[in-house]
Amino acid sequence: MSLAQIHLIRERLRRLGARPTHEQRILRLWAQAKPQNSGRRPLESFMPTALRDDLPQLTKDLNGLLRLQSEHPAEDGSVRWLLALKDGQTVETVGLPRDGVCVSSQVGCAVGCVFCMTGRDGLIRQVGSAEIVAQVAFARLHRPVKKVVFMGMGEPAHNLDNVMEAIEVLGTVGNIAHKSLVFSTVGDPRVFERLPTGLVKPAMAVSLHTTRADLRSQLLPRAPKMSPEELVEAAEIYARQTGYPIQYQWTLLDGVNDSEEELDGIVRLLKGKYALMNMIPYNAIDDLPFKRPTWERAAAIARTLHQRGILTKLRNSAGQDVEGGCGQLRARALQSALKDVPVKDQAMPVHFVSAKPATVL
Ligand code: SF4
Repeated sequence: MSLAQIHLIRERLRRLGARPTHEQRILRLWAQAKPQNSGRRPLESFMPTALRDDLPQLTKDLNGLLRLQSEHPAEDGSVRWLLALKDGQTVETVGLPRDGVCVSSQVGCAVGCVFCMTGRDGLIRQVGSAEIVAQVAFARLHRPVKKVVFMGMGEPAHNLDNVMEAIEVLGTVGNIAHKSLVFSTVGDPRVFERLPTGLVKPAMAVSLHTTRADLRSQLLPRAPKMSPEELVEAAEIYARQTGYPIQYQWTLLDGVNDSEEELDGIVRLLKGKYALMNMIPYNAIDDLPFKRPTWERAAAIARTLHQRGILTKLRNSAGQDVEGGCGQLRARALQSALKDVPVKDQAMPVHFVSAKPATVL
């Protein structure tokens, strides 16, 4: 039986006689990448026999949710892992500097952002809630994890049940502070309805990319039809509800969304809002027509915004944000499979958030 979702794990445990405390203990140790026989009390003293006897097989099954296909460390201390799920589909997970991990919530993505590799093939399948937590548990075997960002492959809003189930486990027994769980979205009315009802309310990043509704529908062709104004309004309510500022993401595309008109639009939309703007110069990808602006140009834009009252960070990155370029590793692995060249032998573009602190201008 598949254990790709947390409620399926819970069902299995309950069938074996687990009470809520057993369930929480098993999920806690798994999410924190600790052995199931951790702790001083012998399992015999508090756990039903059937459940205890199943622990070795359960551990094997949970470990089997994903396996490492290839590993790509970067100079800044980040590491990208290409992980194969049980059915052979692959996702990218990124170990970020300063104890963060970026997880994927879908294989492929239906939003189809024109500057993103993941969006090119559409949605292939949802990633189960347990497969999401398994990415965090995997990362914890290699490095400390205190922050989880949902900025890998996929649009979390399109897999909301699984993402919310994973967030609930990570934000409780998973020992991740609620504000250190970052739900990243292009904006979807369902997100603003559902997230406030969750037991764990994550921080939110909104991929805005432009303040022009017409351009946004070209750049993010299958994003839900919310105008930039509606999006900012809904996000502002969520920020006030949770007490965490919205992190707006802006992938800076040379000659596309870097005009004076856009800067005016950002000031109009975000001035006085509980928000910060992350400007991330695009990292050019072969086959896609977009260009990266010069660093000087990007810095001038960020400085101007800051002077006009918008808290702006320019990612001090050699590449770009995880979301904007996610899927390159997977795409290359697929290409290399076709060409029969091991992926580890190929040059990998850096496309995730840099290790270095963002520059506040
Ligand atoms: S940038 Fe994010 S939302 Fe857009 S296609 Fe890629 S994965 Fe989907």
